[in-house]
Amino acid sequence: MKYVLVTGGVVSGLGKGVTASSIGLLLKACGLRVTSIKIDPYLNTDAGTMSPFEHGEVFVLDDGGEVDLDLGNYERFLDIKLTRDNNITTGKIYQSVLDNERKGDYLGKTVQVVPHITDAIQKWIERVALIPVDGKEGPADVCVIELGGTIGDIESMPFIEALGQFSYHVGPGNFCLIHVSLVPVLNVVGEQKTKPTQHSVRGLRGLGLTPNILACRSTKALEDNVKAKLSQFCHVAAENILTLYDVPNIWHIPLLLRDQKAHEAILKELNLIGEPDLQEWTARTRVYDILHEPVRIAMVGKYTGLSDSYLSVLKALLHASVACRRKLVVEWVAAGDLEDVTAKEAPDVYKNAWDLLKGSDGVLVPGGFGDRGVQGKILAAKYARENKVPFLGVCLGMQIAVIEFARSVLGLHDANSTEFDPETSYPCVIFMPEGSKTHMGGTMRLGSRRTFFKVPNCKSAKLYNNDSFVDERHRHRYEVNPNMVQQFENAGLSFVGRDETGQRMEIIELPSHPYFVGAQFHPEFKSRPGKPSALFLGLIAAASGQLDAVLQNYGHASKLLPNGIGNGKPTVKTYQNGNAIKSSNGSLNGVYSNGNDNGNGAHH
Ligand code: GLN
Repeated sequence: MKYVLVTGGVVSGLGKGVTASSIGLLLKACGLRVTSIKIDPYLNTDAGTMSPFEHGEVFVLDDGGEVDLDLGNYERFLDIKLTRDNNITTGKIYQSVLDNERKGDYLGKTVQVVPHITDAIQKWIERVALIPVDGKEGPADVCVIELGGTIGDIESMPFIEALGQFSYHVGPGNFCLIHVSLVPVLNVVGEQKTKPTQHSVRGLRGLGLTPNILACRSTKALEDNVKAKLSQFCHVAAENILTLYDVPNIWHIPLLLRDQKAHEAILKELNLIGEPDLQEWTARTRVYDILHEPVRIAMVGKYTGLSDSYLSVLKALLHASVACRRKLVVEWVAAGDLEDVTAKEAPDVYKNAWDLLKGSDGVLVPGGFGDRGVQGKILAAKYARENKVPFLGVCLGMQIAVIEFARSVLGLHDANSTEFDPETSYPCVIFMPEGSKTHMGGTMRLGSRRTFFKVPNCKSAKLYNNDSFVDERHRHRYEVNPNMVQQFENAGLSFVGRDETGQRMEIIELPSHPYFVGAQFHPEFKSRPGKPSALFLGLIAAASGQLDAVLQNYGHASKLLPNGIGNGKPTVKTYQNGNAIKSSNGSLNGVYSNGNDNGNGAHH
């Protein structure tokens, strides 16, 4: 096993996660099998209790792990499935050491950060790196480890110490350290400043870690004299200094790294050789770049201030939009703004929210917890249902659609989820824990569960390739009340997907509507560039007038689309001096070709 460690310096928010994922992708494109580990030095044992508003979304894995959203980037870029142990936190490490201490494993010894915590970190990394994550047998070739936070943070110290020991332990040729840093440009003089990077590399060295490669965030490519200076002061060869300059979207990062020969620098440190094949990725990025016809999706959610709160939903919308050749425009609608109280208190805000909703081609109500904005989400679902606007409800979004249907169509005016009104006379969504009803911890239905299609040939079954079942990820406590299902079905709301017992409702559909679908699970977590999630593809296809064609092809968008968008003369971007320049050697064939299904645009 070879290891690539990615650290960050100067400031947080440099896009270290995306850089690390892109490095993984570049190595994968060289024919290597890649896995990854994200280290979060905070004390929480997992991200499950952290507010999406503060920390971005909680990403959910197949095994039910609730983890940092960076693991989502790894899964999407590398098309892998990680485990909860691929996310290390200080809390997890201390918990394991303290458990061992109580079991008597260190009897007689003083338990200390060095060596006990640092040993536990190294053993954890070695153990988890061996877990296959790409569906093949046996361990990967390379493990990309991303250390969260910034060098110098107090909480990351034990990890730095452990990783320093680890690099020595695995030895030269098996370890490559990439330090992501910032080279700011001062407006007055327009000069690229190296001092912050120098300081952060010095800090890193002082802690026992020597960077092999510097990846510098900067608005433009680094000038040669700036590279020379960094090389001299940081003791890193000039060809190992890369610039992560601003690009139109993150799909460009692996290409930018490839163009700067990052793979050569990394592979050399790891005693490996290889040339990246990024044809498919390049072509898809090119398609993304030239999209111009918009598809407008209203996101009716609770957190509209921080797009990271719904990162995977946005990515799933994007993957589907690229497959449908539409430029995604997300209209953020704060659910509360649609409510009657806002009409009174802030009429302008209310009008603006409704204008956005009414101006959109499709409506998405994402998952959520707590009752803030619930009424507004119900109004959005009602609007979409009555006006035949394509609608997708995810988790809470599906529950909202059920509540709305109960109130408007069944006439049960105070119908509600017991999450929001425990006393409701029509509890159409109820607490249905899988485990204990009394013990509050661990009552969440988490991770991969199977949904069986009860109605073959319904829209969602077709989107899922007409398979008889599908495995998707869950994160919820409440479910549609099984005792009310017959009543709903009699009135035209179809529960087309259910769990193996038939008691848990997984997918709803309104057959009389162009596209009105809800899922109790979160399909967004398994969406990939080139393999958009089925139900999201359905939403975007419906919102852009392409649903019939997609359904006829059982959810395969790629077969419908013209061969080589841009008509025969596809170009691939290469980079020079921070500017994308065009070359004509690229080809779109094999990516979005017609008829020849190689997995793109299809859901498996
Ligand atoms: N709050 C709802 C439940 O617990 C929905 C959860 C979600 O959307 N992730 O069932």
